[in-house]
Amino acid sequence: AKCQANSTPLTPLTMIKRAAAAYPDRISLIYEGTHFTWSQTYERCCRLASSLCSLNVFKNDVVSVLAPNIPATYEMHFAVPMAGAVLNTINTRLDAKNVATILRHSEAKVFFVDCQSVPLARDALRLLVAAGDHDPSQHPNSNIPLLVVIDDIDSPTGIHLGELEYEHLVQQGDPNYMPVEVVDEWDPIALNYTSGTTSEPKGVVYSHRGAYLSTLSLILGWEMGSEPVYLWTLPMFHCNGWTFTWGVAARGGTNVCLRSPTALQIYRSITLHRVTHMCCAPIIFNVLLEAKPEERIPLASSVHLLTGGAPPPASLLQKVEALGFHVTHAYGLTEATGPALLCEWQSKWDELPQDDQARLKARQGISVLTVADVDVKDIATMRSVAHDGRTMGEIVLHGSGIMKGYFKDERATSKAFESGWFHTGDVGVIHPDGYLEIKDRSKDVIISGGENISSVEVEDVLFKHPRVLEAAVVAMPHPRWGESPCAFIALKPNSGSCAVTEDEIISFCRQNLPHFMVPRKVEFLPELPKTSTGKIQKFQLRSLAQKFVVS
Ligand code: ADP
Repeated sequence: AKCQANSTPLTPLTMIKRAAAAYPDRISLIYEGTHFTWSQTYERCCRLASSLCSLNVFKNDVVSVLAPNIPATYEMHFAVPMAGAVLNTINTRLDAKNVATILRHSEAKVFFVDCQSVPLARDALRLLVAAGDHDPSQHPNSNIPLLVVIDDIDSPTGIHLGELEYEHLVQQGDPNYMPVEVVDEWDPIALNYTSGTTSEPKGVVYSHRGAYLSTLSLILGWEMGSEPVYLWTLPMFHCNGWTFTWGVAARGGTNVCLRSPTALQIYRSITLHRVTHMCCAPIIFNVLLEAKPEERIPLASSVHLLTGGAPPPASLLQKVEALGFHVTHAYGLTEATGPALLCEWQSKWDELPQDDQARLKARQGISVLTVADVDVKDIATMRSVAHDGRTMGEIVLHGSGIMKGYFKDERATSKAFESGWFHTGDVGVIHPDGYLEIKDRSKDVIISGGENISSVEVEDVLFKHPRVLEAAVVAMPHPRWGESPCAFIALKPNSGSCAVTEDEIISFCRQNLPHFMVPRKVEFLPELPKTSTGKIQKFQLRSLAQKFVVS
């Protein structure tokens, strides 16, 4: 009992407090020619938290943020929970309707908006006002959050909205503010809406405990040593930057913030600040690989790159590594506080040919430390599938990094935890060595003549074609087989002069895939439709494919 009395709730807030004590003079954050130290960042967070309290933000109130990877977004990851509130980062690429839906559903009390997102915020707030006016049971405008503009660059839009300004709140706050004590580690720290690749966005609630454990498990899993220089290429609004917002503080590292990760900015920052680590979705691989010669600066030393969010094609993994990035592959989802599986590298694989190494690394791997159990279950019987690398089933998870549930949505929560496991909706196999490999999302599997075709496997082959920039494979109706694969492709920009034909792609697939998996139709598009997090919207492609007639 004595021991318990001395234990304290687990919370990422201890990470910044410790960083300020242990590394007060180390650079915490670099952004556009300015920088802060850890003692300055801690003090700024205390000041902002105290200002939030003066604005009547109380325990468990939601504070929303619509901003890119700038210092304010980073600071709010600590300041908002220090005030006892819950941080809701909103994807800056959403439209006004979605932003309004999130503000309404989360009941946000304060809304921080970056000056570049002011027009979007203004439209979202107008929608909220309109909705409030139509609901007679509500006090007019009672659903409208207090607006604070973050004005760290001159407002490019010229529109000025709201009376409060971020830096002013920081400056007028109390530097000696005592953060609101975390009494229960299960209290919420963040509310993240899923990006809605397959359904309406749902609000995922993270606890202080889950965030703390997930942060530690990723630092360990990725072997992030002390004093990392971390480049923000992954949006902080995506699962709190897969927890590295908190993780960089835990390691006393340096955050290098970028408003927009262009090829030039990425390569330049890596060289200038001697970046050691970065995370990104595989979509950024194309940015790195397709950079113009004048944008690409050769890496002076290897950069650790953690990728996840979508399947990374093996051929691209290999090319990115050839540039000097040391890639680790992770799989996860918003509901699992980011990565749940990691392709843990085995030293014996170092001896294998490059192709085999890339193929092994493209597998999603084994559980991170916060995932106590992972399995692949037959969807109909819920029995575990054989570890044969072939039998597909749904990936299910158990563990401390899994969300508490969906905010104000008990039905969706009970459905997600239906069998006692968390159901990911992803379809995969387990290899004899215990490593998992994702074959598809359950909605994206193509069933042709009773055979399951993994769209990911077909896409992997398409990405090997030298002219292919983007590829996605979906089901199209087939009179005999029920469904058959249909490929959508965007070619590399310089392919115009000697166009690639549908027949050429089909025969390329024939050489590399079993006959039944070969796309029956190939459609070229200038660009594939994507979600706000850069994932390909297969439902859009599926509806296009409905119109194709197979001969
Ligand atoms: P959404 O479900 O709206 O896309 P998330 O950002 O939570 O939002 O996406 C999680 C999904 O992304 C997973 O369920 C999975 O389908 C996909 N995913 C994430 N990482 C990987 C990976 N390494 N390989 C394959 N798919 C991945």
